Amino acid sequence: MKRVFYDEIVKVVMEKCIEMNIYMDEKLKILLDKAVEEEDSNLAKEILKDLLLNQEVAKEELIPLCQDTGMIIAFVELGQSVIIEGGSLSDAINEGVEKGYQDGHLRKSVVGCPLRRKNTNSNTPAIIYYDVVEGETLKIILAAKGFGSENMSSVKMLKPSEGVEGVKEFVLETIQKAGGNCCPPIIVGVGIGGSFDKAALLAKKALLRDLMERNKDPYLAELEGELLEAVNQLGIGPQGFGGKTTALALQIETYPTHIAGLPVAVNINCHASRHKDILF
Ligand code: SF4
Repeated sequence: MKRVFYDEIVKVVMEKCIEMNIYMDEKLKILLDKAVEEEDSNLAKEILKDLLLNQEVAKEELIPLCQDTGMIIAFVELGQSVIIEGGSLSDAINEGVEKGYQDGHLRKSVVGCPLRRKNTNSNTPAIIYYDVVEGETLKIILAAKGFGSENMSSVKMLKPSEGVEGVKEFVLETIQKAGGNCCPPIIVGVGIGGSFDKAALLAKKALLRDLMERNKDPYLAELEGELLEAVNQLGIGPQGFGGKTTALALQIETYPTHIAGLPVAVNINCHASRHKDILF
């Protein structure tokens, strides 16, 4: 049995909340640099350079990459042989988030009741998903999700007969509708299969994969490449001002589904794609 202490979790979650809001993901930076090289439009090039400059300023002045510092989503993989000592894991994550947003002077963006809309002033509760796995490891993947891009995401229950062509059409239609509202260049997470809720969860998980990593299934890896190219041919471009850099990455996750259904979800993340892995 491995012991992980409540206070330890609070501390690391707090630190990572601050870190991911200030420092741009290195892989994202590489993709932005590449996009600057490859863009044909001068305006698009300049916008991409501004995004790179923005992350330099954030790093130097220790300020967030974006004013929308996001709602925290946590995917937890809890080893069966791990004991959390000193309190509950959900409480520890929420306390870490609250401290991080307080100490890091990050905007608190969570309202308690979605209809009465009073700010909780702590950026909590976080949305936490649990998976119980074998072993002695506790892994927490934290994401600070901005809602400009979240709001442009979508789920659709396709008929199985619509097949892969229906999936492609829905992905492109969703991105086209989002236009410049989701702060492109974007990262696109596509979830295919499962049920209505599972597809959305798969799309969210897809966003948290290493940005350079293609799906391990060659068929899906090819579909990722094909769809990314098609998205970039939509011409939306950085911040919606035209160009061929609408998306920097497109990642697909799938799950078995019912014979009568083909659920598809598209979750969009903006260029302020922020996530951190924590391992105990
Ligand atoms: S969508 Fe992203 S870049 Fe745009 S405001 Fe929200 S967090 Fe910031």
